[in-house]
Amino acid sequence: MIKVKGYINPTVINTVDGTFAVSGSNWINVPEGTTLKDLNWIDITPKIKKTKLHKWEVKSPSKSRPGKFNTYLVKFDGTYSCTCLGYTYRRKCRHITKISESFRPSRGRAGAGVV
Ligand SMILES: [Zn+2]
Repeated sequence: MIKVKGYINPTVINTVDGTFAVSGSNWINVPEGTTLKDLNWIDITPKIKKTKLHKWEVKSPSKSRPGKFNTYLVKFDGTYSCTCLGYTYRRKCRHITKISESFRPSRGRAGAGVV
């Protein structure tokens, strides 16, 4: 087996200079007669985990308008964000804390949907 590291499934190319296993820009000189079956592709593509966007509406009593509630939108797509002023100024707020803490008992750790 010939190990071929690359981002693309390798192919075998015969040239006047010899036989090469090619994966993207990675050319490896291989013995003549080498076929795809002789290649052991090592996929070096960076694995990017896509995190689904989560949204929560958090109702919070209004300080300026007693009896009224403000609704904030907390979002999580790898990091938390919130639409409230507290988040805008401090990059953290109690709405995010509330959401992130709500995952602790069932998931055993903070962070929604992070596997
Ligand atoms: Zn907030």
